[in-house]
Amino acid sequence: MIITSTEDTIAAIATPPGNGAISIIRVSGSQTFEIADQIFLGQIKLSDAPTHTIHYGRILDHPDELVDDVLVSVFRNPHSYTGEDCVEINTHGSPIIQKKIIDLLVHSGARLAEPGEFTKRAFLNNRIDLAQAEAVIDLINASTDASLRGARNQLDGLLSKKIGFLKNNLVNAISLVEIGLDFAEEDIEFIEYKELLERIETVSGEIEKLLASYSFGKIIKDGVNVAIIGKPNVGKSSLLNYLLKESRAIVSSIPGTTRDIIREEISINGILFRLFDTAGIRITQNEIEKEGVARSREAIKNSDIIILMNDAVQEYSGDLLNEISSFVEKHKIISVINKIDLIENRDCFKNNIGISAKTGEGINHLLDSLSKAALKHSNYSEKSAIVSNTRHYQCLKNANDSLENAKESIINSYSGEFISVDIRSAITNLSEIIGEVTTEDILKNIFQKFCIGK
Ligand code: GDP
Repeated sequence: MIITSTEDTIAAIATPPGNGAISIIRVSGSQTFEIADQIFLGQIKLSDAPTHTIHYGRILDHPDELVDDVLVSVFRNPHSYTGEDCVEINTHGSPIIQKKIIDLLVHSGARLAEPGEFTKRAFLNNRIDLAQAEAVIDLINASTDASLRGARNQLDGLLSKKIGFLKNNLVNAISLVEIGLDFAEEDIEFIEYKELLERIETVSGEIEKLLASYSFGKIIKDGVNVAIIGKPNVGKSSLLNYLLKESRAIVSSIPGTTRDIIREEISINGILFRLFDTAGIRITQNEIEKEGVARSREAIKNSDIIILMNDAVQEYSGDLLNEISSFVEKHKIISVINKIDLIENRDCFKNNIGISAKTGEGINHLLDSLSKAALKHSNYSEKSAIVSNTRHYQCLKNANDSLENAKESIINSYSGEFISVDIRSAITNLSEIIGEVTTEDILKNIFQKFCIGK
């Protein structure tokens, strides 16, 4: 049971903490204008202001002491982010001003907003559906072009429309079952069932496509883990440094999470690659190094791609390849030979990519291979409906399982009631994605990941 949200008027700072040029304080709820008018003094009262207008004025503390001069944007329901009456107070970006204004709002009857509560209200007031609400957080967290476009498309309703379409097809299919039930006595169900089977197969085919898009969706949203491994001095750190120096939109640089493993993030063709320079990696078992070995193996196992590096001057060593092949799938490994600037003959690399971390030769080839390996040559694009969220993936999987059961029942000519139950269950699963069916737990889980003020 969802508790209606319009009872309280909520307030929160919507901009990041700290000092800045401007800070925005959001207020939403049925008492918004009454509360805001108690602390705002401008040319007109905010409760008289038309929607989508902005007003200069002063925020006054009791007794009439100036806190700040501000600009207030007015949004009247239902034409606001939350669908409720809403104001956004633009203040000077000082934490002490922010705090004073929030205190004044609370004193005047507002309550502090919970994380994600504005977006939750937007969902509860049908401004957006649940998949779109989840896209809001993806949009805020996006760190590459691809993740931004993916989140944008989900927020624009690309996935929701697709889910709605599939759901409607199932709703129509159920009516066929019911017709079948009505005429059960007259022995014409077989024709109806054949048609039904076709319809369900079409929907489950579409669901399978969405399920298959998940690995692509996850990659554009969360990025790809790449471990660079090789013997000492083959040039692992040099490659990492070269890639980081390239102007290819460095996202951020995060200090090593463990003593031995350095993690850096770069963006190639809009996709986030998290590179692990496993400088201290030890793979071969040895009593003393057991812990290091386990940790190294773990890092390699958790990688989506492994760059296995040799160099052109030392003798090629197959040991490492043999070693990691025992616990890593072969298709994840990209073999690289570094330092090709030091040799004349460029034809001796066979299945390896020749590069020079010093001159940059061959690096573009390596980047292409990384992109291709990450996307597994998939034909998806962020412009089509794709699944990047684990919750959506699980709902689709459940829906497909139910449709499989329905298909079984149809093929075995079971009674329509059996078929209907499974189709209904698939409809519920699809409805959960867009939030037509939900629970307070699901909502809590989703909105607690948001920041306060969003
Ligand atoms: P790591 O131990 O695998 O991380 O290797 P480093 O990146 O520290 O490199 C070892 C040495 O090889 C350093 O002196 C680098 O300058 C040198 N080196 C790395 N890559 C290249 C390359 O492509 N060409 C040449 N000529 N030297 C390189």
